[in-house]
Amino acid sequence: MNKRGKCGNEDKAAMSLSGTLPKLPSIRELIKIYGLSAKSQLSQNFILDKNITDKIVRTASLSAATPLVVEVGPGPGLLTRSILDSGAPNVVAVEKDDRFQPTLRQLSVASGHRLKVLQGNMLEIPHQEILAAGNMTTKPIDTINAPIHIMGNLPFNVASPLLVQWLHMLANREGVFNCYDRDVWMTLMFQKEVGERLSAATSTSNRGRLAVMAQSLCHVKTVYQVPSTVFVPKPKVDASVVQLIPRKSFSENDMAGVYPVLENILRYFFTKRRKTVGHILRRLSKEQPATSALMAELETILDFKARPEDVPNEQFCEAAKLFHQHNIVTLPL
Ligand code: SAM
Repeated sequence: MNKRGKCGNEDKAAMSLSGTLPKLPSIRELIKIYGLSAKSQLSQNFILDKNITDKIVRTASLSAATPLVVEVGPGPGLLTRSILDSGAPNVVAVEKDDRFQPTLRQLSVASGHRLKVLQGNMLEIPHQEILAAGNMTTKPIDTINAPIHIMGNLPFNVASPLLVQWLHMLANREGVFNCYDRDVWMTLMFQKEVGERLSAATSTSNRGRLAVMAQSLCHVKTVYQVPSTVFVPKPKVDASVVQLIPRKSFSENDMAGVYPVLENILRYFFTKRRKTVGHILRRLSKEQPATSALMAELETILDFKARPEDVPNEQFCEAAKLFHQHNIVTLPL
């Protein structure tokens, strides 16, 4: 406090260390001041209602014990404000569009530097840079092994490639997914249709490659449906927030080499989704004769009369392990 009993800048910053942000201009005002018109090529659809971003953050159960939150595409920063308001002590936000740097830098100061901002493309940025910005490159001394979180109202045009990249990194325990044995939880906003594909159960029409890739490593749950009217500008479709929490069984299974094989098998199967598993495998053994030696064993794993959408995650994983053991890694397209 200064002599008049008013808070100076440092005091304000110190206050924000405890969790609540000082009063800030509204995001609507900031967008106006900085002339931040939305760029469709960067899938910019902003949320301007803090009730919504608070609700998204509540689904992630962040707390002062959360070691790191990585936010993808903070834009003008309303979801970021909700993340900081949750008390998260360490947030690294990666934003491709440099027009948001001034507003995000202000937010960083207002948060007492709990927020660090990196400018870059999340698909390309080395995760080491994220871990370094979040001071996560040395072993933490805390005893609570709380999970790291990846969050974001994802740019829809790169949402699926981003998730597929993270799933590969999770399987291989790379980057943020290789940080002193900490789990990484992902709470991510997708277009509703992508959310439905991710959480699709067996024997449903949305079931495909993405569902099995995600569900073989993670528990996948839609936690919040968000109507398109919430976004500015309003997109053509609704959105949903999906949570992906790594399975315990995955930690015990070594999926590192197997995961790319699983992805290839899924691609092969789901491009023939009307055919039965037996038909698809007989075709594969003609196209790739090495697989014919595996047919008897595959018949003990998979139901040859089922269609790809009826096959449970575990069975696809068992099949992928068998292919991997026999060094059959790539499949014809
Ligand atoms: N988080 C803000 C919100 O909820 O209002 C903005 C979300 S908007 C759907 C997506 C954001 O991701 C935009 O700010 C956009 O500039 C950013 N973005 C687009 N592509 C990106 C990429 N490859 N890497 C990082 N950020 C990206």
